[in-house]
Order: sequence, then structure tokens, then C-alpha cells
Amino acid sequence: MSAPDPTAIRHMRRAIALACDSVAAGGGPFGAVIARGEEVVAEGSNLVTPDLDPTAHAEVTAIRRACRTLGRFDLRGLVLYSSCEPCPMCLAAIHWARLDGAYFAGTRWDAAAAGFDDELLYREVAAPLEARTVPTRPLLPEDGKRPFAAWLAKPDRVPY
Ligand SMILES: [Zn+2]
Repeated sequence: MSAPDPTAIRHMRRAIALACDSVAAGGGPFGAVIARGEEVVAEGSNLVTPDLDPTAHAEVTAIRRACRTLGRFDLRGLVLYSSCEPCPMCLAAIHWARLDGAYFAGTRWDAAAAGFDDELLYREVAAPLEARTVPTRPLLPEDGKRPFAAWLAKPDRVPY
């Protein structure tokens, strides 16, 4: 990932425009672009309220569209431009998608000032199970090993 250049700035301006358009359309104030150099592969905006989907953050929306457009689940060689610093869920999605990198414009503190506070999630990930806000407890841990054994025994599995 190189330093910001005119192409990167153009992609980021588009992501910010998508975020502003989303507000006008009734969505959340977030936009994202996924690009391969000059080429925009996918765009996304926050669709949580219009799609009734709490995971439909702009970055996730753009990742889903880029994967469908390219016909693959691996986005190596592409970079994400987000109008705001990715939340922990989107950061994880960026990793799972194997994107080369990500740029963001607004910060998590800008988002918090507008009522989108991710700080709880950063703390939750690091907290021990018994200290988490949403109770998260082990249940049937031995049975939980069976799917992994089936996965490892499947010679034609598709690794990702
Ligand atoms: Zn997010």
C-alpha cells in the first residue's frame, strides 16, 4: 500500500460522497469504495436501516458487492476506501477479505461524536468472557469439535 496519491484521493472523495448520499436517502452516514488501482470494483453505503441488517455497514456492503462482481471471496490486490475508520466488525471483514489495505477519512472519534461509538466493541474483544456486556458462554464444547474434524477429513474442502 503506497502513500495517498491522486487516485486514492479520488476514491476517498467518492466514498465520502456515498456517505452523504446515504444520509439523504435515509441510511447511515458511511460510504466505501473498493478499487484496483484506478478501477472502482464496488461501492457501498450503510444499509443498516433500509435493509434491516445490522451488519450492512458500508465496508461490508462494498466487500459483498466486490466479491460478487469478481466471483471470488478473496480480494487480494484491492484496496478499500472508507469515509470513516472501520469499526471492529469491518476491520475483521477487511482481514477476512484479504484486502491489501484500507484508507479512512473520518475517525472513530468523529463517529462517536455523531452517536456511533465503537469503543465498547474494542473493549469487548479484549475482555474475558465473564466480563462481556452480552453474555457469551461455552456450551457443548466437545460437540463443537465435530465440524472441524469433518472439515479436516474432507479432501476437497475449499480453504479460505
Ligand atoms: Zn463497521
